[in-house]
Amino acid sequence: MTTSWHSVRMRLTLSYAAALAVVVVLFAAGVYALVTWSLHRQSTQQLDDALRAVEQAYKDGGDELEEIDHHGSVTFFHVSAGDSLLYQSDAWRHNQLSTALANSAGSQGGHFQAPSGEPFLVRTLVVRDLAPPVTLSAAISQRLPRQSLQTVAITLLVGLPVAIFVAAIGGYWLAGRALAPVTAITAKARDITAERLSERLPVANPDDEFGQLATVFNDVLGRVHESFERLKRFTSDASHELRTPLTAIRSVGEVALHNHLPSEQYREVIGSMLEETDRLTRLLDNLLTLTRADNACGTVCRERVDIADIALGVGELLRGLAEERDQKLTIEAATPLHVEADPNLLRQALINLLDNAIKYTPPEGAIRVMACLSPQDEVVVEVTDSGPGIAPEHQRHVFDRFYRVDKARARETGGVGLGLALAKWAVEVNGGRIELQSEAGSGSTFRVVLPGQAALQRNQVFGECS
Ligand code: ADP
Repeated sequence: MTTSWHSVRMRLTLSYAAALAVVVVLFAAGVYALVTWSLHRQSTQQLDDALRAVEQAYKDGGDELEEIDHHGSVTFFHVSAGDSLLYQSDAWRHNQLSTALANSAGSQGGHFQAPSGEPFLVRTLVVRDLAPPVTLSAAISQRLPRQSLQTVAITLLVGLPVAIFVAAIGGYWLAGRALAPVTAITAKARDITAERLSERLPVANPDDEFGQLATVFNDVLGRVHESFERLKRFTSDASHELRTPLTAIRSVGEVALHNHLPSEQYREVIGSMLEETDRLTRLLDNLLTLTRADNACGTVCRERVDIADIALGVGELLRGLAEERDQKLTIEAATPLHVEADPNLLRQALINLLDNAIKYTPPEGAIRVMACLSPQDEVVVEVTDSGPGIAPEHQRHVFDRFYRVDKARARETGGVGLGLALAKWAVEVNGGRIELQSEAGSGSTFRVVLPGQAALQRNQVFGECS
Protein backbone atom coordinates (compact mmCIF):
# COMPACT_ATOMS: atom_id res chain seq x y z
CA MET A 1 0.00 0.00 0.00
CA THR A 2 1.45 3.38 -0.94
CA THR A 3 1.13 6.13 1.62
CA SER A 4 0.40 9.65 0.42
CA TRP A 5 0.83 12.79 2.45
CA HIS A 6 -2.96 13.01 2.69
CA SER A 7 -3.42 9.51 4.08
CA VAL A 8 -4.88 9.15 7.57
CA ARG A 9 -1.77 7.23 8.59
CA MET A 10 0.52 10.08 7.57
CA ARG A 11 -1.73 12.74 9.07
CA LEU A 12 -1.95 10.82 12.35
CA THR A 13 1.84 10.46 12.45
CA LEU A 14 2.45 14.15 11.68
CA SER A 15 -0.11 15.32 14.26
CA TYR A 16 1.39 12.98 16.83
CA ALA A 17 4.95 14.14 16.03
CA ALA A 18 3.90 17.82 16.19
CA ALA A 19 2.18 17.36 19.55
CA LEU A 20 5.16 15.43 20.85
CA ALA A 21 7.58 18.13 19.60
CA VAL A 22 5.66 20.87 21.42
CA VAL A 23 5.64 18.88 24.68
CA VAL A 24 9.28 17.88 24.38
CA VAL A 25 10.48 21.42 23.51
CA LEU A 26 8.60 22.82 26.51
CA PHE A 27 10.08 20.09 28.67
CA ALA A 28 13.62 20.82 27.35
CA ALA A 29 13.24 24.56 27.94
CA GLY A 30 12.11 23.76 31.50
CA VAL A 31 15.09 21.48 32.08
CA TYR A 32 17.51 24.09 30.71
CA ALA A 33 16.04 26.84 32.89
CA LEU A 34 16.14 24.59 35.96
CA VAL A 35 19.79 23.63 35.40
CA THR A 36 20.73 27.31 34.82
CA TRP A 37 18.97 28.37 38.01
CA SER A 38 20.47 25.54 40.03
CA LEU A 39 24.06 26.27 38.84
CA HIS A 40 23.62 29.98 39.57
CA ARG A 41 22.29 29.19 43.04
CA GLN A 42 25.22 26.90 43.72
CA SER A 43 27.69 29.66 42.68
CA THR A 44 25.99 32.33 44.81
CA GLN A 45 26.01 29.99 47.81
CA GLN A 46 29.72 29.36 47.32
CA LEU A 47 30.31 33.14 47.06
CA ASP A 48 28.28 33.77 50.25
CA ASP A 49 30.41 31.16 52.07
CA ALA A 50 33.58 32.75 50.66
CA LEU A 51 32.53 36.26 51.77
CA ARG A 52 31.79 34.98 55.28
CA ALA A 53 35.25 33.31 55.43
CA VAL A 54 36.99 36.50 54.16
CA GLU A 55 35.05 38.66 56.64
CA GLN A 56 36.05 36.36 59.48
CA ALA A 57 39.70 36.31 58.37
CA TYR A 58 39.75 40.12 58.08
CA LYS A 59 38.26 40.51 61.51
CA ASP A 60 40.71 37.97 62.96
CA GLY A 61 43.50 40.20 61.58
CA GLY A 62 47.13 39.26 61.26
CA ASP A 63 47.96 36.84 58.46
CA GLU A 64 44.56 35.29 58.30
CA LEU A 65 43.71 36.80 54.87
CA GLU A 66 46.97 35.48 53.45
CA GLU A 67 46.28 32.16 55.09
CA ILE A 68 42.95 31.68 53.35
CA ASP A 69 44.42 33.07 50.10
CA HIS A 70 47.18 30.48 49.98
CA HIS A 71 45.74 27.57 51.91
CA GLY A 72 42.01 28.21 52.16
CA SER A 73 39.16 27.46 49.84
CA VAL A 74 38.59 31.04 48.62
CA THR A 75 40.55 31.82 45.46
CA PHE A 76 39.31 35.18 44.16
CA PHE A 77 38.70 37.88 46.76
CA HIS A 78 39.39 41.55 47.33
CA VAL A 79 39.20 43.76 50.45
CA SER A 80 39.00 47.57 50.29
CA ALA A 81 38.01 50.52 52.46
CA GLY A 82 36.79 53.39 50.35
CA ASP A 83 39.35 53.82 47.53
CA SER A 84 42.22 52.16 49.37
CA LEU A 85 42.99 48.53 48.71
CA LEU A 86 43.49 46.52 51.84
CA TYR A 87 44.05 43.10 50.31
CA GLN A 88 43.56 41.19 47.08
CA SER A 89 44.18 37.52 46.56
CA ASP A 90 46.94 36.42 44.20
CA ALA A 91 44.42 34.93 41.79
CA TRP A 92 42.36 38.15 41.82
CA ARG A 93 45.42 40.22 40.99
CA HIS A 94 46.72 37.78 38.45
CA ASN A 95 43.45 37.80 36.56
CA GLN A 96 43.18 41.60 36.82
CA LEU A 97 39.66 41.27 38.17
CA SER A 98 39.60 44.81 39.64
CA THR A 99 40.09 46.31 36.17
CA ALA A 100 37.60 43.88 34.60
CA LEU A 101 35.06 44.64 37.31
CA ALA A 102 35.49 48.41 36.87
CA ASN A 103 35.05 48.03 33.08
CA SER A 104 31.93 45.91 33.42
CA ALA A 105 30.21 48.20 35.94
CA GLY A 106 26.52 47.97 35.22
CA SER A 107 26.55 44.40 33.91
CA GLN A 108 23.62 42.37 35.17
CA GLY A 109 23.61 39.97 38.13
CA GLY A 110 27.30 40.34 38.99
CA HIS A 111 28.53 38.62 35.83
CA PHE A 112 31.67 39.99 34.19
CA GLN A 113 34.54 38.86 32.05
CA ALA A 114 38.23 38.81 32.95
CA PRO A 115 40.71 40.16 30.36
CA SER A 116 41.66 36.51 29.70
CA GLY A 117 38.05 35.96 28.54
CA GLU A 118 37.11 33.81 31.51
CA PRO A 119 33.59 34.52 32.82
CA PHE A 120 33.16 35.36 36.52
CA LEU A 121 30.37 35.93 39.00
CA VAL A 122 31.08 38.45 41.76
CA ARG A 123 29.34 39.27 45.04
CA THR A 124 30.15 42.19 47.32
CA LEU A 125 29.60 42.66 51.04
CA VAL A 126 30.00 45.95 52.92
CA VAL A 127 30.91 45.38 56.59
CA ARG A 128 29.46 48.50 58.27
CA ASP A 129 30.20 47.57 61.86
CA LEU A 130 33.87 48.42 61.20
CA ALA A 131 35.26 51.93 60.99
CA PRO A 132 35.81 52.78 58.27
CA PRO A 133 33.36 50.35 56.59
CA VAL A 134 35.14 47.64 54.63
CA THR A 135 34.00 46.33 51.22
CA LEU A 136 34.61 42.62 50.61
CA SER A 137 34.32 41.15 47.10
CA ALA A 138 34.53 37.50 46.16
CA ALA A 139 34.36 36.08 42.64
CA ILE A 140 33.96 32.62 41.24
CA SER A 141 34.77 31.35 37.76
CA GLN A 142 31.72 30.48 35.63
CA ARG A 143 33.71 28.43 33.14
CA LEU A 144 32.62 25.02 34.45
CA PRO A 145 28.94 25.93 35.02
CA ARG A 146 28.79 27.43 31.53
CA GLN A 147 30.42 24.32 30.06
CA SER A 148 27.86 22.17 31.89
CA LEU A 149 25.04 24.34 30.54
CA GLN A 150 26.48 24.10 27.04
CA THR A 151 26.62 20.32 27.32
CA VAL A 152 22.99 20.23 28.44
CA ALA A 153 21.97 22.55 25.56
CA ILE A 154 23.86 20.49 22.95
CA THR A 155 22.41 17.24 24.35
CA LEU A 156 18.92 18.68 24.16
CA LEU A 157 19.36 20.23 20.71
CA VAL A 158 20.74 17.03 19.22
CA GLY A 159 18.75 14.55 21.29
CA LEU A 160 15.31 16.11 20.88
CA PRO A 161 15.03 15.95 17.06
CA VAL A 162 16.40 12.40 17.16
CA ALA A 163 13.88 11.44 19.87
CA ILE A 164 11.02 13.08 17.94
CA PHE A 165 12.12 11.38 14.71
CA VAL A 166 12.30 7.95 16.39
CA ALA A 167 8.91 8.55 18.07
CA ALA A 168 7.42 9.59 14.70
CA ILE A 169 8.67 6.38 13.08
CA GLY A 170 7.18 4.42 15.98
CA GLY A 171 3.92 6.39 15.60
CA TYR A 172 3.88 5.68 11.87
CA TRP A 173 4.28 1.96 12.53
CA LEU A 174 1.61 1.99 15.27
CA ALA A 175 -0.80 3.97 13.04
CA GLY A 176 -0.18 1.41 10.30
CA ARG A 177 -1.02 -1.42 12.67
CA ALA A 178 -4.13 0.34 13.97
CA LEU A 179 -5.32 1.10 10.43
CA ALA A 180 -4.53 -2.38 9.11
CA PRO A 181 -8.23 -3.44 9.30
CA VAL A 182 -9.12 -0.47 7.06
CA THR A 183 -6.58 -1.62 4.51
CA ALA A 184 -8.03 -5.12 4.61
CA ILE A 185 -11.60 -3.75 4.36
CA THR A 186 -10.64 -1.53 1.40
CA ALA A 187 -8.95 -4.39 -0.44
CA LYS A 188 -11.94 -6.67 0.11
CA ALA A 189 -14.49 -3.97 -0.77
CA ARG A 190 -12.70 -3.48 -4.12
CA ASP A 191 -13.32 -7.17 -4.90
CA ILE A 192 -17.05 -7.03 -4.17
CA THR A 193 -18.83 -6.59 -7.47
CA ALA A 194 -22.46 -7.10 -8.45
CA GLU A 195 -21.64 -10.76 -9.18
CA ARG A 196 -19.95 -11.30 -5.81
CA LEU A 197 -22.47 -9.68 -3.48
CA SER A 198 -22.44 -12.77 -1.25
CA GLU A 199 -18.92 -11.91 -0.05
CA ARG A 200 -18.43 -9.97 3.16
CA LEU A 201 -15.85 -7.57 4.58
CA PRO A 202 -13.38 -8.97 7.13
CA VAL A 203 -14.21 -8.14 10.75
CA ALA A 204 -11.00 -8.41 12.80
CA ASN A 205 -12.53 -7.25 16.08
CA PRO A 206 -16.30 -6.72 16.15
CA ASP A 207 -16.01 -4.50 19.24
CA ASP A 208 -13.69 -1.80 17.89
CA GLU A 209 -14.72 1.10 15.63
CA PHE A 210 -13.52 -0.53 12.40
CA GLY A 211 -15.15 -3.83 13.36
CA GLN A 212 -18.45 -2.03 13.98
CA LEU A 213 -18.14 -0.18 10.66
CA ALA A 214 -17.44 -3.43 8.79
CA THR A 215 -20.35 -5.15 10.57
CA VAL A 216 -22.77 -2.36 9.63
CA PHE A 217 -21.45 -2.39 6.07
CA ASN A 218 -21.87 -6.17 5.93
CA ASP A 219 -25.48 -5.79 7.06
CA VAL A 220 -26.07 -3.26 4.28
CA LEU A 221 -24.37 -5.63 1.81
CA GLY A 222 -26.63 -8.41 3.04
CA ARG A 223 -29.72 -6.33 2.39
CA VAL A 224 -28.44 -5.22 -1.04
CA HIS A 225 -27.65 -8.85 -1.88
CA GLU A 226 -31.11 -9.93 -0.79
CA SER A 227 -32.89 -7.29 -2.86
CA PHE A 228 -30.60 -8.01 -5.81
CA GLU A 229 -31.49 -11.70 -5.59
CA ARG A 230 -35.17 -10.85 -5.23
CA LEU A 231 -34.96 -8.61 -8.28
CA LYS A 232 -33.23 -11.35 -10.29
CA ARG A 233 -35.86 -13.89 -9.22
CA PHE A 234 -38.62 -11.43 -10.00
CA THR A 235 -37.24 -10.70 -13.48
CA SER A 236 -36.81 -14.36 -14.33
CA ASP A 237 -40.26 -15.28 -12.91
CA ALA A 238 -41.88 -12.37 -14.72
CA SER A 239 -40.30 -13.25 -18.07
CA HIS A 240 -41.29 -16.89 -17.57
CA GLU A 241 -44.88 -15.91 -16.79
CA LEU A 242 -45.00 -13.58 -19.78
CA ARG A 243 -43.58 -16.20 -22.12
CA THR A 244 -46.21 -18.86 -21.22
CA PRO A 245 -49.32 -17.03 -22.54
CA LEU A 246 -47.34 -15.72 -25.54
CA THR A 247 -46.27 -19.27 -26.42
CA ALA A 248 -49.86 -20.44 -26.01
CA ILE A 249 -51.16 -17.68 -28.32
CA ARG A 250 -48.45 -18.42 -30.88
CA SER A 251 -49.00 -22.20 -30.93
CA VAL A 252 -52.79 -21.90 -31.08
CA GLY A 253 -52.43 -19.34 -33.89
CA GLU A 254 -49.93 -21.48 -35.84
CA VAL A 255 -52.13 -24.57 -35.63
CA ALA A 256 -55.14 -22.56 -36.86
CA LEU A 257 -53.09 -21.02 -39.66
CA HIS A 258 -51.74 -24.30 -41.00
CA ASN A 259 -55.02 -26.21 -40.89
CA HIS A 260 -58.31 -25.50 -42.57
CA LEU A 261 -60.79 -25.47 -39.72
CA PRO A 262 -64.52 -24.99 -39.64
CA SER A 263 -65.51 -21.45 -38.68
CA GLU A 264 -66.77 -22.70 -35.27
CA GLN A 265 -63.24 -23.84 -34.37
CA TYR A 266 -61.75 -20.55 -35.56
CA ARG A 267 -64.04 -18.84 -33.05
CA GLU A 268 -62.73 -21.17 -30.36
CA VAL A 269 -59.12 -20.37 -31.32
CA ILE A 270 -59.81 -16.63 -31.20
CA GLY A 271 -61.60 -17.11 -27.86
CA SER A 272 -58.65 -18.94 -26.36
CA MET A 273 -56.28 -16.29 -27.77
CA LEU A 274 -58.36 -13.58 -26.13
CA GLU A 275 -58.31 -15.52 -22.86
CA GLU A 276 -54.51 -15.63 -22.95
CA THR A 277 -54.44 -11.93 -23.87
CA ASP A 278 -56.63 -11.19 -20.82
CA ARG A 279 -54.22 -13.17 -18.73
CA LEU A 280 -51.30 -11.21 -20.16
CA THR A 281 -53.06 -7.90 -19.52
CA ARG A 282 -53.81 -8.89 -15.91
CA LEU A 283 -50.24 -10.00 -15.41
CA LEU A 284 -48.84 -6.78 -16.84
CA ASP A 285 -51.22 -4.71 -14.71
CA ASN A 286 -50.07 -6.56 -11.62
CA LEU A 287 -46.42 -6.21 -12.56
CA LEU A 288 -46.88 -2.51 -13.16
CA THR A 289 -48.53 -2.06 -9.76
CA LEU A 290 -45.73 -3.99 -8.04
CA THR A 291 -43.04 -2.00 -9.84
CA ARG A 292 -44.73 1.20 -8.76
CA ALA A 293 -44.93 -0.17 -5.22
CA ASP A 294 -41.19 -0.96 -5.29
CA ASN A 295 -40.31 2.48 -6.56
CA ALA A 296 -42.72 4.07 -4.09
CA CYS A 297 -44.05 6.17 -6.96
CA GLY A 298 -47.60 4.83 -6.97
CA THR A 299 -50.00 7.41 -5.65
CA VAL A 300 -51.64 6.44 -2.38
CA CYS A 301 -54.58 8.73 -1.71
CA ARG A 302 -55.60 8.11 1.86
CA GLU A 303 -58.99 9.36 2.92
CA ARG A 304 -61.63 8.49 5.46
CA VAL A 305 -63.40 5.47 3.97
CA ASP A 306 -65.99 2.98 5.13
CA ILE A 307 -64.31 -0.40 4.74
CA ALA A 308 -67.53 -2.28 5.53
CA ASP A 309 -69.05 -0.61 2.50
CA ILE A 310 -66.05 -1.63 0.37
CA ALA A 311 -66.31 -5.24 1.65
CA LEU A 312 -70.02 -5.35 0.76
CA GLY A 313 -69.27 -3.95 -2.71
CA VAL A 314 -66.50 -6.51 -3.34
CA GLY A 315 -68.78 -9.33 -2.14
CA GLU A 316 -71.51 -8.26 -4.54
CA LEU A 317 -69.00 -7.86 -7.38
CA LEU A 318 -67.75 -11.46 -7.07
CA ARG A 319 -71.01 -13.07 -5.99
CA GLY A 320 -71.65 -14.15 -9.57
CA LEU A 321 -68.36 -16.09 -9.66
CA ALA A 322 -69.23 -17.90 -6.42
CA GLU A 323 -72.70 -18.73 -7.69
CA GLU A 324 -71.21 -20.18 -10.88
CA ARG A 325 -69.39 -22.64 -8.60
CA ASP A 326 -72.43 -23.24 -6.38
CA GLN A 327 -70.57 -21.77 -3.43
CA LYS A 328 -72.34 -20.19 -0.48
CA LEU A 329 -71.06 -16.65 -0.05
CA THR A 330 -72.08 -14.75 3.08
CA ILE A 331 -71.10 -11.18 3.85
CA GLU A 332 -71.40 -9.77 7.35
CA ALA A 333 -70.48 -6.15 7.76
CA ALA A 334 -71.89 -3.70 10.24
CA THR A 335 -71.53 -0.30 8.66
CA PRO A 336 -69.95 2.12 8.92
CA LEU A 337 -66.36 1.06 9.78
CA HIS A 338 -64.15 4.00 9.09
CA VAL A 339 -60.46 3.83 8.35
CA GLU A 340 -57.93 6.23 6.88
CA ALA A 341 -56.91 4.49 3.65
CA ASP A 342 -56.82 4.50 -0.13
CA PRO A 343 -60.20 2.97 -1.15
CA ASN A 344 -58.95 1.71 -4.53
CA LEU A 345 -56.01 -0.17 -3.03
CA LEU A 346 -58.18 -1.65 -0.26
CA ARG A 347 -60.80 -2.74 -2.77
CA GLN A 348 -58.12 -4.41 -4.92
CA ALA A 349 -56.71 -6.23 -1.85
CA LEU A 350 -60.15 -7.53 -0.86
CA ILE A 351 -60.93 -8.56 -4.48
CA ASN A 352 -57.69 -10.59 -4.56
CA LEU A 353 -58.50 -12.32 -1.26
CA LEU A 354 -62.11 -13.12 -2.15
CA ASP A 355 -61.13 -14.14 -5.69
CA ASN A 356 -58.61 -16.61 -4.23
CA ALA A 357 -61.20 -17.97 -1.79
CA ILE A 358 -63.61 -18.59 -4.67
CA LYS A 359 -60.85 -20.02 -6.93
CA TYR A 360 -59.42 -22.46 -4.42
CA THR A 361 -62.63 -23.53 -2.65
CA PRO A 362 -64.28 -26.52 -4.31
CA PRO A 363 -67.84 -26.19 -5.69
CA GLU A 364 -70.54 -26.07 -3.03
CA GLY A 365 -68.04 -24.83 -0.46
CA ALA A 366 -68.71 -21.94 1.91
CA ILE A 367 -67.07 -18.52 1.91
CA ARG A 368 -67.62 -15.81 4.47
CA VAL A 369 -66.56 -12.16 4.41
CA MET A 370 -66.84 -10.37 7.72
CA ALA A 371 -65.96 -6.79 8.62
CA CYS A 372 -65.86 -5.83 12.30
CA LEU A 373 -64.12 -3.85 15.00
CA SER A 374 -61.76 -5.78 17.26
CA PRO A 375 -61.58 -5.21 21.03
CA GLN A 376 -58.20 -3.53 20.37
CA ASP A 377 -59.94 -0.85 18.30
CA GLU A 378 -58.64 -2.31 15.06
CA VAL A 379 -60.76 -2.66 11.97
CA VAL A 380 -60.71 -6.25 10.72
CA VAL A 381 -61.94 -7.76 7.46
CA GLU A 382 -61.84 -11.55 7.38
CA VAL A 383 -62.19 -13.72 4.31
CA THR A 384 -62.79 -17.29 5.41
CA ASP A 385 -63.26 -20.28 3.10
CA SER A 386 -63.79 -24.00 3.43
CA GLY A 387 -61.17 -24.74 0.75
CA PRO A 388 -58.09 -26.96 0.87
CA GLY A 389 -56.24 -24.75 3.34
CA ILE A 390 -52.53 -23.94 3.19
CA ALA A 391 -49.95 -26.21 4.82
CA PRO A 392 -47.73 -24.50 7.44
CA GLU A 393 -44.56 -24.81 5.28
CA HIS A 394 -46.24 -22.75 2.53
CA GLN A 395 -47.84 -20.14 4.76
CA ARG A 396 -44.60 -18.15 5.10
CA HIS A 397 -44.23 -17.92 1.33
CA VAL A 398 -47.72 -17.39 -0.06
CA PHE A 399 -47.24 -13.61 0.11
CA ASP A 400 -44.00 -13.84 -1.94
CA ARG A 401 -44.17 -12.82 -5.57
CA PHE A 402 -44.87 -15.64 -8.03
CA TYR A 403 -45.23 -18.15 -5.22
CA ARG A 404 -47.87 -20.80 -5.84
CA VAL A 405 -48.50 -23.79 -3.62
CA ASP A 406 -49.56 -25.99 -6.51
CA LYS A 407 -48.23 -24.49 -9.74
CA ALA A 408 -50.20 -26.74 -12.07
CA ARG A 409 -53.50 -26.10 -10.30
CA ALA A 410 -52.89 -22.39 -9.96
CA ARG A 411 -52.22 -22.16 -13.70
CA GLU A 412 -55.53 -23.90 -14.38
CA THR A 413 -57.26 -21.24 -12.29
CA GLY A 414 -55.32 -18.49 -14.06
CA GLY A 415 -53.16 -17.54 -11.07
CA VAL A 416 -49.58 -16.35 -11.45
CA GLY A 417 -48.77 -15.95 -7.76
CA LEU A 418 -49.00 -12.16 -7.54
CA GLY A 419 -52.45 -11.70 -5.96
CA LEU A 420 -51.40 -12.08 -2.33
CA ALA A 421 -48.17 -10.09 -2.83
CA LEU A 422 -50.25 -7.21 -4.18
CA ALA A 423 -52.85 -7.51 -1.43
CA LYS A 424 -50.13 -7.47 1.22
CA TRP A 425 -48.52 -4.36 -0.28
CA ALA A 426 -51.90 -2.61 -0.64
CA VAL A 427 -52.77 -3.23 3.01
CA GLU A 428 -49.33 -2.39 4.37
CA VAL A 429 -49.07 0.84 2.41
CA ASN A 430 -52.27 1.85 4.19
CA GLY A 431 -50.72 1.18 7.58
CA GLY A 432 -52.27 -2.25 8.14
CA ARG A 433 -51.24 -5.90 8.00
CA ILE A 434 -52.48 -9.21 6.61
CA GLU A 435 -52.64 -12.33 8.78
CA LEU A 436 -53.21 -15.86 7.61
CA GLN A 437 -54.75 -18.63 9.66
CA SER A 438 -55.02 -21.94 7.92
CA GLU A 439 -54.59 -25.66 8.19
CA ALA A 440 -54.18 -28.05 5.31
CA GLY A 441 -57.59 -29.59 4.63
CA SER A 442 -59.68 -27.30 6.77
CA GLY A 443 -59.97 -23.97 5.01
CA SER A 444 -58.18 -20.64 5.34
CA THR A 445 -58.84 -17.28 6.91
CA PHE A 446 -57.10 -14.19 5.53
CA ARG A 447 -57.45 -11.29 7.94
CA VAL A 448 -56.88 -7.66 6.94
CA VAL A 449 -56.21 -5.56 10.04
CA LEU A 450 -56.18 -1.76 9.85
CA PRO A 451 -55.81 0.85 12.55
CA GLY A 452 -59.34 1.95 13.46
CA GLN A 453 -60.46 5.49 14.01
CA ALA A 454 -61.30 4.89 17.63
CA ALA A 455 -62.45 8.41 18.35
CA LEU A 456 -64.82 8.41 15.39
CA GLN A 457 -66.12 4.95 16.00
CA ARG A 458 -66.70 5.19 19.74
CA ASN A 459 -69.78 7.29 19.09
CA GLN A 460 -71.37 4.67 16.88
CA VAL A 461 -72.54 1.09 17.16
CA PHE A 462 -70.58 -1.57 15.30
CA GLY A 463 -70.47 -5.29 14.82
CA GLU A 464 -68.18 -7.10 17.27
CA CYS A 465 -65.51 -9.59 16.23
CA SER A 466 -66.22 -13.07 17.50
P1 ADP B 1 -52.46 -16.85 -7.47
O1 ADP B 1 -52.59 -15.83 -8.53
O2 ADP B 1 -51.71 -18.06 -7.91
O3 ADP B 1 -53.71 -17.14 -6.78
P2 ADP B 1 -51.75 -15.60 -5.02
O4 ADP B 1 -50.58 -14.78 -4.69
O5 ADP B 1 -53.08 -14.98 -4.93
O6 ADP B 1 -51.48 -16.17 -6.45
O7 ADP B 1 -51.72 -16.86 -4.09
C1 ADP B 1 -50.53 -17.56 -3.91
C2 ADP B 1 -50.79 -19.03 -3.64
O8 ADP B 1 -51.41 -19.16 -2.36
C3 ADP B 1 -51.78 -19.61 -4.59
O9 ADP B 1 -51.12 -20.14 -5.72
C4 ADP B 1 -52.43 -20.69 -3.77
O10 ADP B 1 -51.67 -21.88 -3.87
C5 ADP B 1 -52.35 -20.19 -2.36
N1 ADP B 1 -53.65 -19.64 -1.91
C6 ADP B 1 -54.03 -18.34 -1.93
N2 ADP B 1 -55.25 -18.19 -1.41
C7 ADP B 1 -55.68 -19.42 -1.07
C8 ADP B 1 -56.87 -19.93 -0.45
N3 ADP B 1 -57.89 -19.13 -0.11
N4 ADP B 1 -56.94 -21.25 -0.21
C9 ADP B 1 -55.91 -22.06 -0.54
N5 ADP B 1 -54.76 -21.66 -1.11
C10 ADP B 1 -54.65 -20.34 -1.37
